[in-house]
Amino acid sequence: MDVVVVGAGIAGLSCARTLAAGGARVRVVERGRVPGGRLASRRYDGRYADIGAAYLVADDPDFAAAVASWQARGLARPWTDTLRVHPGDTAATGPMRWAAPGGLRSLAADLTTGLDVSYSTPLDAIPGDADAVVLAMPGPQALRLDPPPGILAAASSQVWQPVIAAVLSYPSREWPDFRGAFVNDHPVLATVCDDGSRRGDGAPVLVAHSTAALAAEHLADPAAAGPIIASAVASLLELESEPRIDVHRWTYAQPEPGDAAYATDGRVWLCGDAFGRPRVQSAWLSGRATARAILSD
Ligand SMILES: Cc1cc2nc3c(=O)[nH]c(=O)nc-3n(C[C@H](O)[C@H](O)[C@H](O)COP(=O)(O)OP(=O)(O)OC[C@H]3O[C@@H](n4cnc5c(N)ncnc54)[C@H](O)[C@@H]3O)c2cc1C
Repeated sequence: MDVVVVGAGIAGLSCARTLAAGGARVRVVERGRVPGGRLASRRYDGRYADIGAAYLVADDPDFAAAVASWQARGLARPWTDTLRVHPGDTAATGPMRWAAPGGLRSLAADLTTGLDVSYSTPLDAIPGDADAVVLAMPGPQALRLDPPPGILAAASSQVWQPVIAAVLSYPSREWPDFRGAFVNDHPVLATVCDDGSRRGDGAPVLVAHSTAALAAEHLADPAAAGPIIASAVASLLELESEPRIDVHRWTYAQPEPGDAAYATDGRVWLCGDAFGRPRVQSAWLSGRATARAILSD
């Protein structure tokens, strides 16, 4: 069986690995130059910062086993189970949050091992030369490939929110050890994470994620949101230095949670983090569930 997986995010890669392990011939096609999608690390002044997913949580036993394999090979590290919450400056203890010394994208890169992946290959139509085609991406992106009615309906029903990520690089670390913070009821900020803490290199870099409302206002000119986000972070953490500011726009950052594991219509399948809670783990599980369904077909 020949399968084309469109999208080398965590869902597409998990799908492709499961298909290949099941004996299918799999080709992964990715529009970007690197794998990972929103499991994204970008280099600023020679150092990677995580600009998409902030961390992983692994409460599914199989995903936890995948994370344990990354940990055993030095790719993932337990970061923290405690984050700050603002307003109130309280501590919220929850599940272990996992990070990656080489940036979270390194985990996606690991999943490409042994797979046939073509980068810089944006598709604008569903390939006709495969027994199955998996669209492993946000529904609004899948709509651009003119999918069949069942996929069109599933993709159209997804609701997505944007985020602007700001990477704030300071001359030195002038904040207390707070790891990361959820910022509630704020007009600008949703989260702030200490990238030097989670990566483990102690670099004086914070990554802040905007609210959906701020991102929606600045989608056409995300750079303009940078100083607004930096100023909000300075107020929150009482910082005085001016950081270097780099921004990244995520038009489709976070979907409303969905119930099904994937959608399908004939030989076309749709998977990703919109099938579950909007988390890396959900994307991994959705990709694997899709692959298993294709193999059992
Ligand atoms: C700002 C932000 C913060 C987040 N924080 C967390 C967090 O702390 N913890 C957590 O677990 N999750 C978090 N997430 C969510 C997490 O990143 C996603 O759930 C997960 O990475 C989604 O993976 P995916 O494979 O479903 O989709 P994606 O990663 O979006 O992958 C889709 C891929 O398809 C490719 N593609 C799209 N269209 C085409 C085309 N036409 N042709 C070829 N390729 C195409 C894209 O380039 C992309 O690589 C966050 C996300 C964002 C944006």
